[in-house]
Amino acid sequence: MSFNILLVDWYKNNKRDLPWRNTSHPYPIWISEIILQQTRVQQGLPYYERFMEKFPTVFDIAYADEQEVLNLWQGLGYYSRARNLHKGTRQVAFDLKGKFPDNYADWLKIKGVGSYTAAAIASFAFKEAVPVVDGNVFRVLSRVFDIDLNIASNKAKGYFFDFSKELIDKKQPDLYNQAIMEFGALQCVPKNPDCSNCILQNNCISFSKNIVHERPVKIKQKRIKKRFFHYFVVKQNDSVFLQQRTKKDIWQNMYEFPLIEENSDDLSEESMKKLNIKPTDIQLIKRNNKHILSHQEIYTAFWSINFEKAQKLIKNASKIAVSETKNYPMPKPIYTFMNELISK
Ligand code: SF4
Repeated sequence: MSFNILLVDWYKNNKRDLPWRNTSHPYPIWISEIILQQTRVQQGLPYYERFMEKFPTVFDIAYADEQEVLNLWQGLGYYSRARNLHKGTRQVAFDLKGKFPDNYADWLKIKGVGSYTAAAIASFAFKEAVPVVDGNVFRVLSRVFDIDLNIASNKAKGYFFDFSKELIDKKQPDLYNQAIMEFGALQCVPKNPDCSNCILQNNCISFSKNIVHERPVKIKQKRIKKRFFHYFVVKQNDSVFLQQRTKKDIWQNMYEFPLIEENSDDLSEESMKKLNIKPTDIQLIKRNNKHILSHQEIYTAFWSINFEKAQKLIKNASKIAVSETKNYPMPKPIYTFMNELISK
């Protein structure tokens, strides 16, 4: 039997019952695909349910404030995904008057929709024979067909896309795409796949060569930038001071305590001079373990300082009742710290 028939058969017998699989409407498929990028299904599922409950149609999310969307997204990370999703839904609701694109090329014009998401929506909702290429697909194809291209390279993406175009089941591209992703997620997993109980064992070249653990080839040269965020917790009665991150940077538009970014985990003399504070004016409350983003490691320290001494620090911040802070979307390290502060 051919690769795609085996795969689709396997899918029919083994797929997980997930809510976005019981529909061919592009809206829930779109929401689920954006939520599930860089997120495990189990983690993403409750977010998907909350999104669909709060924004059952594209108009509901398009009319919502960005802050409402970010609040609902809180904890998932990669906030630019939520912001772009929101912009994309506005494009569909307002520019396209609620009419969803019905093909791959037009989905690519929607903000936040890349080639993977466009292929997923176009195939699941409109049965267009365009293949998805994600980490699961790289892994399954590179193992079964023994492809040794470095999947971190640009060349690999084009190669796997063209190769998948030949493999995709033209009559049921939706099932084929779902099947290969599910197969990668459940059967041909990154570590120790259960090859002895695999329907593709006879087709799998890497298995026959005993080099499964060498596929896919991934050589990543990633430069990780270390950043040191020193936060100042300024309290006044039952309120704290928070400011919004308005610059084009990580966590854009989210809220945080007044911040000084340094080159090390210590505050510099120079910064203290600028802020008109002395080392004795501040007390370290806590340092967090590093927070890892795709190309950055964020080290956070939280300092307490009296309101009177903090005048320069809070000049761009707003005073917010502690009980109200839950309405302000915050990056995970701040959100976690704030919860600890509230529960004390
Ligand atoms: S035999 Fe192993 S490596 Fe090959 S497809 Fe099956 S699970 Fe993946």
